[in-house]
Amino acid sequence: MIRPAPSARIAPASRIAPTSRIAYVNGRYLPLRDARVSIDDRGYQFADGIYEVCALVDGLLVDAGRHLDRLERSAAALGIVLPMARRPLLLVMRELVRRNAVQHGLLYLQISRGTAPREHAFPATLQAALVMTVRAQARAAGEARAAAGVRVITLADQRWARCDIKSTALLPNVLAKQAAREAGAYEAWLVDRDGAVTEGSSSNAWIVDAAGTLVTRERSPAILGGVTRETLLALALQAGWAVAERRFTVPEALAAREAFLTSATAFVLPVVAIDGVKIADGRPGTLTQRLAQLYRDNLPQERAAGVR
Ligand code: PMP
Repeated sequence: MIRPAPSARIAPASRIAPTSRIAYVNGRYLPLRDARVSIDDRGYQFADGIYEVCALVDGLLVDAGRHLDRLERSAAALGIVLPMARRPLLLVMRELVRRNAVQHGLLYLQISRGTAPREHAFPATLQAALVMTVRAQARAAGEARAAAGVRVITLADQRWARCDIKSTALLPNVLAKQAAREAGAYEAWLVDRDGAVTEGSSSNAWIVDAAGTLVTRERSPAILGGVTRETLLALALQAGWAVAERRFTVPEALAAREAFLTSATAFVLPVVAIDGVKIADGRPGTLTQRLAQLYRDNLPQERAAGVR
């Protein structure tokens, strides 16, 4: 394998083997193995940070404008000053994709409040830390999952009251996803104290009711406003689908005509069983498949001239 020399921080993409991943860390492009942040980084100490995950299709970022909108909202909600304006941030994102020569996969972007001696309260002037990585993902695996559909389990939602902020503090989400995997499921749908589904541990939850209406929980601090959720809602409304942003319970989901989930990496993914109970005939629903197609046909990718 050809590895770029440590000093080759600006080597052209053509000289970098796609297997030697390049990370972006506070202004520098570095081989992943050399990418480091301080142990005093508040992201490490307190999960005091925010993040975004953006899909890459054919080498282009998907819905980058909406991801950056949300990043700005998360930063504002936590009083984190973004280390870079939107336009240069987007340029770095694109440059990192180019250097990694990834066609299909994802870009991970994390901003922590910065580095300071460990203390809960933070200094007024702190330079936020920015880290980005890009990872390739086999397209076929996602397609096979979408064709077969996935199983989900339900669990109590144990998260805090500001789930609308895309914070790196993900412990309840991590434990829920792990429980799902150990139960042989792909995702855990989280259930609030009133018995209503909030969302998945890393995705938004949807059902199609008996009348064929698309139902997903309304936006509030109880859920993350998914970028895919938002784009799909807009596309569905435009295409004349009946849509209701409202709560639904687990029994309602079990009796639904169809169920699915959305996320930046999974797009529109059919759910075929919840807590071991088949949804309808236990196969991906036809309306879900049509929606997945609608999303793929209108993939919100940046144009050459820029985003939105
Ligand atoms: N909810 C949670 C808790 C998530 O982590 C994610 C993934 N970011 C989503 C919903 C889906 O959001 P998006 O479509 O922006 O990926």
